[in-house]
Amino acid sequence: MRWLAGLQPVRVAGDYPVDMTLSIARNIMYWPCGDLEKQYNGRVDFTGSDYCKKVVNFCNAIAGFMASKVYFIKGSCSDGEKLISKKARTLFKAGGFANCFRENDFTAVKVHVGEAGNTTYITPPCIRGLIDELLKLKTKPFLTDTSALYVGRRHNAIEHAVLAAEHGFCEAVLGIPFIVPDGLFGTSETPVKINGELNKEVFIASDIARSQSILSVAHFTGHCAACMGATLKTLGMGCASRKGKMRQHAALTLSIGDDCTRCGQCYDHCPADAITLNDVKAHIDQDKCIGCAECLVACGFNAVECDWGEEDEVLQKNIAEHALGTLEGKQNKSVFFNYLISVTKDCDCFSVPDMPGIVDDIGILASTDPVAVDKAALDMVEAKGGKKLAKLIGYDKLNPHYQLEHAQRIGLGTADYDLVNVD
Ligand code: SF4
Ligand code: SF4
Repeated sequence: MRWLAGLQPVRVAGDYPVDMTLSIARNIMYWPCGDLEKQYNGRVDFTGSDYCKKVVNFCNAIAGFMASKVYFIKGSCSDGEKLISKKARTLFKAGGFANCFRENDFTAVKVHVGEAGNTTYITPPCIRGLIDELLKLKTKPFLTDTSALYVGRRHNAIEHAVLAAEHGFCEAVLGIPFIVPDGLFGTSETPVKINGELNKEVFIASDIARSQSILSVAHFTGHCAACMGATLKTLGMGCASRKGKMRQHAALTLSIGDDCTRCGQCYDHCPADAITLNDVKAHIDQDKCIGCAECLVACGFNAVECDWGEEDEVLQKNIAEHALGTLEGKQNKSVFFNYLISVTKDCDCFSVPDMPGIVDDIGILASTDPVAVDKAALDMVEAKGGKKLAKLIGYDKLNPHYQLEHAQRIGLGTADYDLVNVD
């Protein structure tokens, strides 16, 4: 996408007050810029009785000019893995995404291999066509995902790589290796300077920071803390080192409420030994807690409490800022796919087989704009489900727009998109 210098993307269709559109328009009325300049000859006459109409038309032109293209193809599990792969490849070609990759690029193919026991992750055969395209371009692609904070088979590089191979994310199946980019223990990281609101430096997995391009394959799901797990979360949380992840999660302050039955599930799952059980209930030591939300997920009695309003917003802003760090130096060298297939309430980190979908399968979206592709995905899932995502996944207080809006604000992309349907 192209950017107007110094401007944030704006939506002007209807829901903004006129004085806001005026100030935006005034800022750029003498800014010459390609197609826009041709249309408006680089100048706009804002005088006359139709003053407001002119401004609104002009702003609409800007919004259209700045919208990112998001490519969409219908698809579902019932197509079978081979056809899903073929459809993803069709999108790759339709979007002209080959232009983002160069011969000999080390290209990180960011995937989620699915926790042991999970059966709804996007399986390797569904992405084969994308890898074939990268190989055809003679890049050096590698499958990759960072280790998780929570206790499970993705907690360190060795178990993660073994699990990846068991699930088919390996050289034997896809012709390219699986490499854990943040080292054995999640500590191999590159500090990346960013101009964020919460962070001026973020910690990204070294091998992702050092790769020249990224092809991100995200599985759109709900999420118990961020509401939406899609491209931004894949880039922000999924590409951060352990320290980077902990910084993002540090916003979450959890406590144990009166519904606690002392069952001990949270104690068993806490990766930070932050939970103790006294005679009455469990207790969280806030000095030890890393905010991973594992206890929240493990508790079957809804006894783990969190002030979602504020915590959710800070977490999502942190995710967006880490995504900015992940893409540093990779502008125009990254492509983002969202698979809207098996859209489950919770993410692929859950060791749960056959999680039911919250909506029927929709298809695949792809774009070079990580914000646009997530906004389009969110719109489609909510349209399909007839409800806000937070309602669909049963975490009513969450709001996925925090990450989208903040990502826009820090210059990661725009939520304005043009959907291009592909057959
Ligand atoms: S899992 Fe829930 S109910 Fe069980 S001990 Fe922990 S907080 Fe209490
Ligand atoms: S107490 Fe803190 S570190 Fe332990 S599982 Fe809960 S959120 Fe994670």
